[in-house]
Amino acid sequence: MKPFRPPGNEDAPLGIAIVGGGFTGYAAAIALARRIGRPMEIAIIDAGSSRGGGVAYGRAGPSHILNVRAWELTCDADRPGDFVAWLRDERSVSPPAATVLKQLFMPRRQVADYMASRLVEAARDSHLARLWFYDETVRRITWSSRGYVLHFGPFSSVEAQIVILATGYGPRPRPRFGLDPFRPLKPGRIERARSVAIVGAGLTMVDACVTLRRAGYEGMITVFSRHGMIPEAHAGDAVPDFPSFAREEPDLLSLFRTIRQFVELARKQSLPWQSVINAVRRDAQHIWQRLSEADKRRFHRHVRPLWDKLRHRVPLQVRNWLESEIDEGLIALKAARVLEVSKAGSDWGVSWRPRGSSQTLNARFDLVFDCTGHAPWRPGGALRELEKYGWIGPGPGGLGVKVAADGAATGADGGPTKGLFALGPMGQGSLLEITAAPEIVAQARLCAQRIARDFNCPKRTLDLCEHPRAS
Ligand SMILES: Cc1cc2nc3c(=O)[nH]c(=O)nc-3n(C[C@H](O)[C@H](O)[C@H](O)COP(=O)(O)OP(=O)(O)OC[C@H]3O[C@@H](n4cnc5c(N)ncnc54)[C@H](O)[C@@H]3O)c2cc1C
Repeated sequence: MKPFRPPGNEDAPLGIAIVGGGFTGYAAAIALARRIGRPMEIAIIDAGSSRGGGVAYGRAGPSHILNVRAWELTCDADRPGDFVAWLRDERSVSPPAATVLKQLFMPRRQVADYMASRLVEAARDSHLARLWFYDETVRRITWSSRGYVLHFGPFSSVEAQIVILATGYGPRPRPRFGLDPFRPLKPGRIERARSVAIVGAGLTMVDACVTLRRAGYEGMITVFSRHGMIPEAHAGDAVPDFPSFAREEPDLLSLFRTIRQFVELARKQSLPWQSVINAVRRDAQHIWQRLSEADKRRFHRHVRPLWDKLRHRVPLQVRNWLESEIDEGLIALKAARVLEVSKAGSDWGVSWRPRGSSQTLNARFDLVFDCTGHAPWRPGGALRELEKYGWIGPGPGGLGVKVAADGAATGADGGPTKGLFALGPMGQGSLLEITAAPEIVAQARLCAQRIARDFNCPKRTLDLCEHPRAS
């Protein structure tokens, strides 16, 4: 039997437990407060005491900037531009000319405060949502006649009719290749370093390089990545996206060819290639769900690094800065597979195999940072009982958990498990493009809409678009 407690008395508060107080957990809570027309007790449980920041925004330094323009960020899919409205109202950021505002890339850590303040507002305005915060690790989730039971320890637990897993990358993403780039080091450690290596060449690598230079490290940074590529740049100005053009491609090869044709078309029309990639990103979940399992595997094996480089872009000025560091020999890119990083006394030993070679090379560095990114949390651990009941399962390719577009967990029978959701990066295997803020916020809205339907409690009046700050 699927876990669904009949609503019974519809005035009784709906118990909702959100596991994870990062961006995704907060986006979900905001979406619920604004869309559910029934009293709710929302418990937000976070192992790391996060209040809306999580890995991406809670641990960012002042020089780590967003990779989406401020205008594109919102905590609610029905309120476009809301982050800029918040900056203007709460942070007294004076409104520059509209064209300038569209280009801004703000510091990432502002996002944690933004999410926290918007959640408080949403709960206050709804008059129906009461929030409870638990700084705890959920160790097990079981089912009783009263609903889901989330266990923190042997004697403490909360019960809920709805569980939203928003655990992103798990309670403590553990670095495999050296140091955690977001964990502060002892004072003077960076300045004293004579050699630094970074494993991984995505956006976290960019963060780590910025941190190193800001802390006064002037030496060479050796960056290892399998393909030796760095993230591409956003177009200088915000550009209109192409209309959808690739939704019906039958397989990966045709998709690839069509994208190339459209990039060429864009070039002929003097439009930036980013417009084409943005259009593919917009349709990525639809395209991904239609691909065969074999094509999905091929994508992960051969195309993923290229897609990541084109899709996870940096502001133009950041890309220019990276290129100048590379040109001056301050950043050395190595296309290689890192085999091992091990602590060797006070420094670190790295062994790697250059791309296309069978030779293993070794070197020592004073500091090595693991910027390979985090894998989404998977079943097992705290989710083992849910898996045993057949209510949740691993996502395609073993990435995260299997979900529908609205985050509903897919059970062993292939259908959604009522009242059980996994949002954000946890759905990466099923949806591919679900790790960035705009996709997460769109999914949170779908999730709230499904809950309103399944539990028969939609809000009668949605004043979302009339919000004065949305204009
Ligand atoms: C470094 C970095 C920079 C990024 N920059 C951008 C950007 O500029 N623009 C953009 O659109 N996207 C960006 N992203 C992507 C995106 O916004 C993140 O993926 C998103 O923030 C994911 O949030 P989350 O809440 O799902 O996960 P997390 O941030 O990982 O939060 C999950 C929370 O769950 C808690 N938790 C986990 N397990 C348990 C448990 N068992 N019990 C209790 N609590 C638990 C953890 O303590 C954690 O606080 C970035 C991502 C990273 C990693």
